[in-house]
Amino acid sequence: MKSCFAKPGRAARAGGFGATLLPGLLAAFWLLAAGGASAQNPAQNTQQAAQNAASPTLPTPLASPDSANVVLVTLDGVRWQEVFGGADPARLPRRLRARLPATAAARRRALLPFLWDSVAGREPSRRGQLLGNRALGSRLDVRNRSRLSYPGYNELLSGAPDDAHLLNNRAPLNPNETVLEAANRAPGLAGRVAAFSTWAAFGRILNPACSGLLVDAGRPDGHERADSLTWLAARAYLARARPRVLFVAFGNTDTEAHLGHYAGYLAAAHAADRYLAQLWAYLQSQPQYRGRTTLLVTTDHGRGRSWAWSQHGRWLPGSGQTWLAALGPGIAPTGEAGAPSQHFQGELDGLVARCLGLDFPAAAPVLAVGKSVIE
Ligand SMILES: [Zn+2]
Repeated sequence: MKSCFAKPGRAARAGGFGATLLPGLLAAFWLLAAGGASAQNPAQNTQQAAQNAASPTLPTPLASPDSANVVLVTLDGVRWQEVFGGADPARLPRRLRARLPATAAARRRALLPFLWDSVAGREPSRRGQLLGNRALGSRLDVRNRSRLSYPGYNELLSGAPDDAHLLNNRAPLNPNETVLEAANRAPGLAGRVAAFSTWAAFGRILNPACSGLLVDAGRPDGHERADSLTWLAARAYLARARPRVLFVAFGNTDTEAHLGHYAGYLAAAHAADRYLAQLWAYLQSQPQYRGRTTLLVTTDHGRGRSWAWSQHGRWLPGSGQTWLAALGPGIAPTGEAGAPSQHFQGELDGLVARCLGLDFPAAAPVLAVGKSVIE
């Protein structure tokens, strides 16, 4: 199905931020990201090129995209600080603090055991990639100015920020084509793409009336629902309809954070990690999915630092900082990224597309490895 909307942002993106979206060879994928940034500031060109030359091995396309599946999961507003450092003792009451493991490595594994055992574990056979530990120089950022959820999900799924149309979470129907919509038009994928979300706003972000996507978003009264219900709905659909592309957007982490409930935020993140473990175990038990499915896990924005952890937005430093977990047959098992690199959230739609053998965004030229995007 063709989208109802013209794509007002597409032409502008092709000349600016769009340069970072170009889905070339995935080995060049990350090089393109640095080039996109440097197009606006040539002084950064050499530095970013050097950073990307040192980037860890990156996901490569599956050999047979005809049978490939992708599951994309987002954990709304989960900070890289907790993903890579676990619970921050300073944010917890003293009675809980005393029960925390002593080291950050133990705390992060206690909080997110699936990510740390199965994506960044010791065994290569149980390992993918985990990017975004800024303490090690691995950086992933959004480029939208608001650092809010709707603009963040649009950037993640369409490949570019849209600061002209999507200013905040009250934005109307999304005018931008997403990679999910593109997948839903592709031969072999049409009708086999679905999205389940805790947040009702995905009814606007994914614009099902135009995109034709199956979108199960929030409660019928328009409010957010429990992540557990989102997971139950997604799991049932996965078993029944066997989609080739599944997007699951959890959201209780962000809600708990905005309320200032650090323990609740941690509990929601831990629950989402448990759902990921169940999801991955199910996928590996099914012939359609085993060995043919890429799992991508990320977030839509970061949050403030230290005492400002609970909020996020344009003026709060740290709000644009994100992370990515990737696991599957096309993902090199390098574990936690430990070398300096700079990537952007708007690259992930292209990553989804490459896993499926799609050309998205279709208008973008494909550049050779190592070439600057401004050539
Ligand atoms: Zn929020």
